[in-house]
Amino acid sequence: MDADVIVVGAGPVGLLLAAEVRLGGGRAVVLERLAEPAPERKARGIGALATEALWRRGLGPQLEAADPEGARDFARDHGTELGHFADIHKLVPDPLRRGTKIWQPDLERLLTAHAEALGVRILRGHEVVAVEADADQVTVVAKTFEGEQRLCADYLVGCDGGRSTVRKLAGFGFPGTPALLRTIAGEVRFGGAVPESGRYAGGTFQRGGSLAGVTEPAREDVPVTAAGLATAIRRVTGTDVVVEDLREPRDFTDQARQADTYRRGRVLLAGDAAHVHSPSGGQGLNLGLVDAMNLGWKLAAVLRGAAPALLDTYTRERHPAAEAVLRNTRAQSALLAPGPHVDALRDIVGELMDIPAVNRYFGELLSGVDQRYELPYPTTGPVGRHSPDVELVDEHGVRTRLHEHLRTGRGLLVVTPEQRVNYATDRVRILTATNTGPWLVRPDGVVAWAEGDRQSLEVALDTWFPAG
Ligand SMILES: Cc1cc2nc3c(=O)[nH]c(=O)nc-3n(C[C@H](O)[C@H](O)[C@H](O)COP(=O)(O)OP(=O)(O)OC[C@H]3O[C@@H](n4cnc5c(N)ncnc54)[C@H](O)[C@@H]3O)c2cc1C
Repeated sequence: MDADVIVVGAGPVGLLLAAEVRLGGGRAVVLERLAEPAPERKARGIGALATEALWRRGLGPQLEAADPEGARDFARDHGTELGHFADIHKLVPDPLRRGTKIWQPDLERLLTAHAEALGVRILRGHEVVAVEADADQVTVVAKTFEGEQRLCADYLVGCDGGRSTVRKLAGFGFPGTPALLRTIAGEVRFGGAVPESGRYAGGTFQRGGSLAGVTEPAREDVPVTAAGLATAIRRVTGTDVVVEDLREPRDFTDQARQADTYRRGRVLLAGDAAHVHSPSGGQGLNLGLVDAMNLGWKLAAVLRGAAPALLDTYTRERHPAAEAVLRNTRAQSALLAPGPHVDALRDIVGELMDIPAVNRYFGELLSGVDQRYELPYPTTGPVGRHSPDVELVDEHGVRTRLHEHLRTGRGLLVVTPEQRVNYATDRVRILTATNTGPWLVRPDGVVAWAEGDRQSLEVALDTWFPAG
């Protein structure tokens, strides 16, 4: 075997997944077709769940350092610091579950360094063109500058983006809805007057800083060139503009599709390879990074001897999470379509967002913090949810945060000093705290058990941390 796990794609999701496998003791190799990292500034931020996940792996200070500049860029381009649902910028941030504003290439640099520091091999200039999987192993063929190379591993994960080759070659279904809207945008230099940002009869025109673009009912005949953008702006706004220069062109639709399962035997999917949808509300990268956190430690556990059925909990937990994002992005697309009926609906949704509870509802819809995984035993309270980064106080009064104790990627059982004997186990790390009841946290930050008796704790430990 060339590795325990081959990850296809050195985008943010592939990089984090490989790092997680390595953290759990597995050998991971990443195959990336590009010779150099892509410079495109697609995502400009990650949500609370991905932010908390990266803090748990020690990357918090770098995120904190990037955030102010990212926030400034966001405010410059959108004219407000508030987040949005369907471009209705009214979302008040939740101070306890904060996301991070960081441009995607900066995040990818950070994750590359993190993965390499853990010992992940990243092979650039390796484009996967064939996949063979049987009961014992998986083999890929990669096209490289020196010719074709075959690599074998126990598992293969396609993190190769929305047009995933792995997904197609391994026969995953990818059902969903076709594009309703198409956006073309980029860094634009205009010559002469430019219309105001806003909704028009033909669609939406947006301009902030040097970024400008249009969203209109999907059509195929719009070349992503300076001339194509000028024509589209005219069609949408009715105004003639001169586009002197278009750089970093972006072209995306709101088609919404999701793999029917995320695992077929030894082949799995994560990130955009598993789900595509409109970027409205900036959720794709967040979703994909949480996929990686969910899958990485499970793969590592299976490589160490846990039953492969543990991997099926990945689809069970993450498929509904993407389904929820597809649902809310479809709703956003409906609200972004042009026309007076939609204008009226937007007014009403905007008025509803002025109600604090509704504002919170929309925020949680986009962040996913309220989602609860279905676990193979009854769940109540925090069980099945991602834990916030709570404060823990030990018996000496020392205050720490949860993320500081999850850096090694092991499970964590938090107990009071008096409970330590009753709940003793060597399957996870044990931490004493005086300010919380007993609870068990998985390496991905999900609360696996809380406040139950020893027997229910054993069920949770057997499920997630089976004895070697
Ligand atoms: C304009 C725009 C704005 C966005 N804004 C946000 C935002 O603010 N917040 C957010 O959370 N999300 C946002 N997104 C979504 C986000 O960019 C994606 O969800 C994210 O890039 C997915 O990461 P990934 O690692 O799954 O895939 P990708 O980033 O697409 O990486 C896939 C990698 O696989 C490689 N690859 C592909 N095929 C092969 C092959 N056959 N062999 C080897 N390598 C291969 C590619 O070269 C690439 O490096 C935005 C998207 C767009 C288009």
